[in-house]
Amino acid sequence: MSSPGRPSAHPDSDGSVLVLNSGSSSVKFALVEPKSGSHLLAGVGERLGSPKALLRVRRLGSDAVDEWLPEGTHQAVVARVLGHLRTADRDGLRLLGAGHRVVHGGERFAASVLVDDEVISAVRSVSHLAPLHNPANLAGIEAVSAVLPDLHQVAVFDTAFHQTMPPFAFRYAVPEAWYTEHAVRRYGFHGTSHRFVSERAAALLGRPVSDLRLVTAHLGNGCSATAVRDGVSVDTTMGLTPLDGLVMGTRSGEVDPGMLAYIAGRTGMDLDELTRALNTESGLRGLSGVSNDMRTVTTAAARGNERARLALEVFVHRLSKAIAGLVVGLERLDALVFTGGIGENSAVVRSMVLGRLGFLGLAESSARNTAMDVRATPTPAAHGTANARHGQDTAGRISVSGPVVALVVPTDEELLIARDTARICENRIRQTRGPAAA
Ligand code: ADP
Repeated sequence: MSSPGRPSAHPDSDGSVLVLNSGSSSVKFALVEPKSGSHLLAGVGERLGSPKALLRVRRLGSDAVDEWLPEGTHQAVVARVLGHLRTADRDGLRLLGAGHRVVHGGERFAASVLVDDEVISAVRSVSHLAPLHNPANLAGIEAVSAVLPDLHQVAVFDTAFHQTMPPFAFRYAVPEAWYTEHAVRRYGFHGTSHRFVSERAAALLGRPVSDLRLVTAHLGNGCSATAVRDGVSVDTTMGLTPLDGLVMGTRSGEVDPGMLAYIAGRTGMDLDELTRALNTESGLRGLSGVSNDMRTVTTAAARGNERARLALEVFVHRLSKAIAGLVVGLERLDALVFTGGIGENSAVVRSMVLGRLGFLGLAESSARNTAMDVRATPTPAAHGTANARHGQDTAGRISVSGPVVALVVPTDEELLIARDTARICENRIRQTRGPAAA
């Protein structure tokens, strides 16, 4: 169904997708060509809801430009971004649709879906599982509906990729009613990244993903590792919330649950304060006392700062232990994939991890691993495209020849969201045109 208000969305055209990652006070956006993978425009609307709201826009190949955004709403961001798109493309917009990152799909969503009223209420119905994120993601969807009511929109869930986990991997050993009445289970997050890099790793290895046993380690500010067996997630380190699992920038990862009552008893902290401490004052920041940023931590460790050194060692120990544990669900390991800001850039972390996992058949090629560090740190707009050149001589390999490969694969979650969106929107357009028009 085509309508005059909809930007041209011809299924055969090389259209673009507006990708939105909406938070409560910010909206990250990118205009992505799903076929080429180019990020034509990228940026962020920040400090929404305050008089100091601003829009930072970067066009492909240009410097970022800041603009004041007096209205300071999600809708104002979308309207302004569309204004930029129209100016950039005088031939008329070829917008295939809008793709939204949605953090939590609960048990309802195992794949990306076209947004309609039913999907909106289903996302709302699982908002208690991600109270900071899902309402903000919905605000992004509503903002696009308000500005472009006829544009197809697609929701891409962080949790969807992990819905293939078997019950023995996703259930906690807690009272049954916690699961049946309160939906307490392991959901897993970063699914878009784990899915993207597992498919890319298969391409780099020249093997079908349906025949590969991988552990993917997404190491950014948030960190998680996933066992990907024959293309699907069978286990992951994050759980009911993104606080579980690995040590992260400011998050503790897995702790003894008895610790909460113990610290509450010792300090009088309430649940909100404890949750805040585990989310924002822990991880690399809490351990090192220096920073939540791995660059700063590794530099301080190299200069002899003992707390920074310990933070690095705890990070690597916990990560290595988790990777080895995830192999249980795979029964065989073909490749370990590093991604995210730390995974793509820190030769030190990768080397320390591989050094601990020799018993799995992994062996670092020091020359290949350090050669990965030649490029500059990616900017958000360049993330993905600039990285694509990185490690091309070795197809991302940082291990010596052997049965188990270690790879560095730059993630590009926006590209995966754009591809899912384009595919779903094009299918929808074909269906609504009917066989006569096919
Ligand atoms: P986000 O999860 O917010 O997307 P990123 O994927 O950009 O974050 O990862 C941020 C992390 O990557 C930070 O800890 C940062 O220090 C780390 N990082 C980026 N470049 C390097 C580098 N050259 N060496 C070590 N760590 C790096």
